[in-house]
Amino acid sequence: MDLDDGDAAPGLRCQVCGGDAYRPYTHDEAGDFVRCRDCGLIVRHPCSVSTSSEPPAPAQEGYYDMYQGRRAHKVWDDGRRLQAFLHYLEMPHARQVDHLDIGCGLGSMVEAGATRLGLNSRGVDLPGHAVECCRGRGFDVAEGSLTATGAADGSFDLVTVINVLEHIPRTDDGLREIHRVLRPGGILGAIVPSGAYLKAHLLRQSYRNYHGKRATFHMTYHNRATISRLLIGNGFEPLSYPLLIRARLDGMCSALAETLVCVPRLIARDVLFITRMERELLVIARRL
Ligand SMILES: [Zn+2]
Repeated sequence: MDLDDGDAAPGLRCQVCGGDAYRPYTHDEAGDFVRCRDCGLIVRHPCSVSTSSEPPAPAQEGYYDMYQGRRAHKVWDDGRRLQAFLHYLEMPHARQVDHLDIGCGLGSMVEAGATRLGLNSRGVDLPGHAVECCRGRGFDVAEGSLTATGAADGSFDLVTVINVLEHIPRTDDGLREIHRVLRPGGILGAIVPSGAYLKAHLLRQSYRNYHGKRATFHMTYHNRATISRLLIGNGFEPLSYPLLIRARLDGMCSALAETLVCVPRLIARDVLFITRMERELLVIARRL
């Protein structure tokens, strides 16, 4: 890839900073990516991107094969994430929490919320195999998308969006919908692949995020600054990451354990951020 000074995407205006200058970033048959010179947001080249804000349709049987085999682990992992997000809600009883998982896939987050934590968990995903599979397991899952969930205004305390925001061309379209369905004070918990991950940056001509299936379905790669800026611009208050790690330990350890375990982990996280070793961004924000 030739990182020259030429504009790789004439006429394209950055959804984060409003800049209009892009450098070429990666090239692949599945799609090219370009990088905003001002803020570092990485986006699919407009010629490769659908003009619609709707995500493409990965929600067919084959897309989820890779997840089916490790379902038990995913349910456990999603339960751990939910417990951390719940810490920010400050609601005394889990059964009072209305939770929506957008892009729920095969329903591991809904299962973790409903069966492990006792939340009122619902899911939403594109029509197709995933929704049918969830319903077959008895979960409350509706057909919809990240930009059109079909949910009523202000109907949820917690919205989770795990590895979904990168599937739409304009992240703010998704954030506006999440803001609409959350109650004031509600929490957004999201995970997105990091556009600042050093390994992905150095090996981008061969790294998986920019090739094949992921290059087909992924449209944006944010860094911490770009996602925070969009959150603030769309009515959210980004919350500090370290609180999450403390939350994971709540109720299961003493102050001594927190000192022994938490501090090194906080330091490790800072090191990962500074050295650009964060593969994914954990995003937590409060709806204002
Ligand atoms: Zn920009």
